[in-house]
Amino acid sequence: MIKHYIRKELQNFKPYHAAFRSPKVKLDANESPFSLSENVKNKLIQWIEKEENINLYPDTDSTELREAIASFWNVSVENVICGVGSDQLIDCMMKVLLEPGDRVIMPTPSFSMYRSTAILNHGVPIEIKLNEDYSYPIDEIIETCNKNKPKLLILCSPNNPTGNRLPNEQIEEIAQNVKCPILIDEAYGEFSNETMIPLIRQYPHIVVFRTFSKAYGLAGIRVGYGIGDKEMIDAIYLTKPPYNLSVLSQKIATWVLQDEQVNQKRIEYLKTEREHLIRELRNLPNLRVFDSDANFILIETQDLELSEKLEARDIFVRSFAAFEGTVFLRITVGNKEQNIILIDALKDLLI
Ligand code: PMP
Repeated sequence: MIKHYIRKELQNFKPYHAAFRSPKVKLDANESPFSLSENVKNKLIQWIEKEENINLYPDTDSTELREAIASFWNVSVENVICGVGSDQLIDCMMKVLLEPGDRVIMPTPSFSMYRSTAILNHGVPIEIKLNEDYSYPIDEIIETCNKNKPKLLILCSPNNPTGNRLPNEQIEEIAQNVKCPILIDEAYGEFSNETMIPLIRQYPHIVVFRTFSKAYGLAGIRVGYGIGDKEMIDAIYLTKPPYNLSVLSQKIATWVLQDEQVNQKRIEYLKTEREHLIRELRNLPNLRVFDSDANFILIETQDLELSEKLEARDIFVRSFAAFEGTVFLRITVGNKEQNIILIDALKDLLI
């Protein structure tokens, strides 16, 4: 019965489900292997002991957290907006911009939520295939934007699941030749050496989204943020739900961001592990291993059951259907122990 009332474009839509599991080695969702530092844990315990403000609604504008983010990036508070993960901000942005039938241009392969969020918001996704080596086809992007007059262009850098970044100078080339709003998704930006954030003043049609779910180890409390020109941020505010971030999420994200030495150490650790893992993977037979600027590595294999074989050993990675005869696996960089278990299992399965 309800089926007849569901919007046409959602008749064949697949809702987002992901099995909730806790395997021994979980390398399937680009999460951090690190949880709260001692320092943040102590602040949290003290805060809970004082029982502060759980009975009251949180600050709907996440002011303290936005101040911390603004000071971290040397921008003003009015250049920052916070969301329940960057997922929520992607949704808000599309809600603000899209009228039925409006186009959103996005790379493929890339983060699947761009496409589904566009459809959910009555938009029409237009996917631009990345080059063979997964670099961005700059001229084609510019041309497609100018031809299709989209409401939004999304660029993901470093890109999920390919791992490569889009160099700033190429983003600037696009920004100089494309008029529509451009969302630069830097969910993995902490693992790369470049960011567009300092350039928001120069390009007011750009907004950069980041998240606390990856480098900061806070996937469980869902906090993301956007940085852009005040006019851009004010526009996204039009559709931000009230009280979107809980008191706890705001507090923990603020403390974590201020824990700079710990963050830096953890990011460096993961970058070192990533390079080590890439070297180890390249020593294995019959794998194509891509470079990465993120906290995950993409590999291509002809063993179509490789991910199931790893799962049987309680090691979870993310697999993507590829061309006939090969499959892609996206492997999150874990801690040293997890990475050793993964490599040992792959040696066993592939050699
Ligand atoms: N952007 C990209 C490219 C991602 O991979 C993810 C998470 N997988 C997100 C955004 C969303 O992150 P979150 O909602 O946890 O901030």
